[in-house]
Parts: sequence; structure tokens; C-alpha cells
Amino acid sequence: MTTTTATATTTQAPQVPGQRKRILTGDRPTGELHLGHYVGSLANRVRLQDEYDCYFIIADLHTLTTRPEKSYIRELPDNIRKVTLDYLSVGIDPERSTIYVQSMVPEVYQLNLFFEMLVTVPRLARLPSLKDMARAAHIEQMPFGLLGYPVLQAADILLPKAHLVPVGKDNLAHVEITREIARRFNYLYGEVFPIPEAMLGEVPTLPGIDGQKKMSKSLGNAIFLSDDPKTVEQKVMRMYTDPTRIHATDPGHVRGNPVFIYHDIFNPNKEEVEDLKRRYRRGQVGDVEVKRKLAAALNAFLEPIRQRRALFETRPGYVEEILREGTQRMRQIGAETLAEVREAMGLNYPLFRA
Ligand code: ATP
Ligand code: MG
Repeated sequence: MTTTTATATTTQAPQVPGQRKRILTGDRPTGELHLGHYVGSLANRVRLQDEYDCYFIIADLHTLTTRPEKSYIRELPDNIRKVTLDYLSVGIDPERSTIYVQSMVPEVYQLNLFFEMLVTVPRLARLPSLKDMARAAHIEQMPFGLLGYPVLQAADILLPKAHLVPVGKDNLAHVEITREIARRFNYLYGEVFPIPEAMLGEVPTLPGIDGQKKMSKSLGNAIFLSDDPKTVEQKVMRMYTDPTRIHATDPGHVRGNPVFIYHDIFNPNKEEVEDLKRRYRRGQVGDVEVKRKLAAALNAFLEPIRQRRALFETRPGYVEEILREGTQRMRQIGAETLAEVREAMGLNYPLFRA
């Protein structure tokens, strides 16, 4: 899978000689990850593990912005485990990359507070993504913390001084806020942070199986990385296609048709895809055949992922160990950055130190 860089600006990172550049990105632990997460971000992460020092955050604090109830918090440990298994099963390698749990790194709370001073309320209030999140969670009045979602995200990204942030298109505006905060901090206190760049996947937004613009857990239109073959087949057979086509003999539209968008992304047999498209346009193939072939391609794509998952699922204590080690590593890096931040701000009063 090839990728494109979203923003072409250069980073003027204060580099330690010989140190590799860093990546930070991650996911909220709200359930299993799906194909949209894969093409939007996971594929880039797996690909870039050798080139960059990678930090993958399981952003549990971010779930509190819309779901602070204890009943949801109780579900977090299980969801954190599921996301970690998803990471391992797509090929994120804990030997090379750091996976950690956000709420276990108190340094990020502190950086978040400093960053809150560097952005205005109207700047945040203009972001459509926050209003969408509030609406999806049936929240009428914007909570202070949800408004601060992109600020906390900036703290996540800048705590390890990341240069690159592989994300889906819905997250570009948030990375822009991070860049503004980093610039503002460097302007006020001196060059501490790199100005990170977003990196979009080859497919910036994967549509849902219902034809909606974005595949999303909350919209119930997702194919999960952990779905078994039968479930994938059933979901594909239910998939939205060309609404103007009633009979298999009607000429159909290929462009913008989710079934063909998926074929283009996940079916490596380009000849088969071109043949299906040609016949579809002429009304010489039924939806059933197009979908059967798509289900087969998706299942072939998911099979090695399922096999790796099965392997890791049966190793007792493995996921917990990875998260403990990763979190410890992140805390160390976080403490270093925070010391530098306080020094730059002049907030390290040695006189009063207990
Ligand atoms: P969902 O939207 O399914 O509820 P989420 O909102 O919990 O998932 P995020 O934590 O917002 O997921 O997203 C994790 C990463 O995956 C982000 O970089 C996001 O841009 C990307 N992503 C999520 N859905 C898609 C999609 N359909 N297409 C491309 N990228 C996506
Ligand atoms: Mg989202």
C-alpha cells in the first residue's frame, strides 16, 4: 500500500544527532478496530516502524470527553486489550515500537495544562469534528473537556516530540491545532518542540458498508479486523451498491460505488477487478458475483491478521506486559520533555523545591 503525505511543510525539529525521528498516533479504546482504521492509519504505522521511533497511544482519557460515566470506564480495560491485540495482529511489533496507555502517563496531564494557555476558545469551538462528536454522543452542551480534546491530543503528540502523525482525514484539523500550539510554545519559551506533520493513508476516509462517507464503529457500518469469515461475507452481501441499478442487466455505476472502492483497495487481483467493472458498466454481472469476489478478497486480506491474533490471544499476560513496558518507556520520555518544558518556561523554582 502506498501513501501520501498530507502536508508538505518541513519540520525544523531540534534534533539530537543520530536520533531517529518519532511518530505518535493511536486510537481511543472504544472497541475493536476496523478496516477504516487500517487504511487510514495502521498500514502507515506498520510500514514506518523501521524508519521512525514509533509511539502508539491507547487514548483512554479521550473517551472521557464524551463518556465520563463509570459504566463506560469499566469497559476500558477490556477495550484496551482488544486494541492492543488489533495492533499486534496487523504487525505492530512491540520490540520496535512502544504501545502505551494514556491515562497511566501523568506527564501528559501536566503538558495539557500548559498547552491550554496557548489556544483560544473560538479557535477550538470552530472545529466541526467536536460538534460531530457531541452530536453522536447525544450531548447538548459542549463540555469543557471535549472542547479541549485537540489540546490533549497536542499534549499526546508533543510529549514524545513527535515529527509525524499518521491519521485519517477526520483528524487533520486536530494535527493543525498541535502545530499551532507547538509554534506558540516555541515562540514564547524557546525552541523545544518540532512542528509535527500529519500523514494521511492512501485512503484518507474509507466509506462504510452502508455507503455513508465514513466507516465508523458508532455508525454501525464497520467491518472489523477481528470479524470471522462468515461475518465478513454477511456484511459484504448486505453492502450498499449502486442505488440506480435494479436488475443485473441494468448498466451500473462504478465510481463512488463502495463495493468497487473496496475492490480497488483490498483486491490484489487487478485483472479481476477491471473485468468486474467492465461487466458492471455494461449490465453483464450481478451484485452477488461482485460481492462474493469482494468477500473472498477481504477474507484473504484478513486471514493472516486473524492468525496472528489467535497466536497472541493465547499467550497469558503478554498484552499486559507489553503495555506495562511501553507505558514505563513513555513515562521516562515524558518526564524528560516535561523537565525541559518547565525549564524553558522558567517554572522550575529551585528555591521552593520540597
Ligand atoms: P470510529 O470513528 O469508528 O468510532 P474512533 O472515532 O474511535 O472510531 P478514532 O480514535 O477517531 O476512531 O480514529 C483512530 C484513527 O483511525 C484516526 O487516525 C482516524 O482518522 C482513523 N480512522 C477512523 N475511521 C476511519 C475511516 N473510516 N477511514 C480512514 N481513517 C479512519
Ligand atoms: Mg473518530
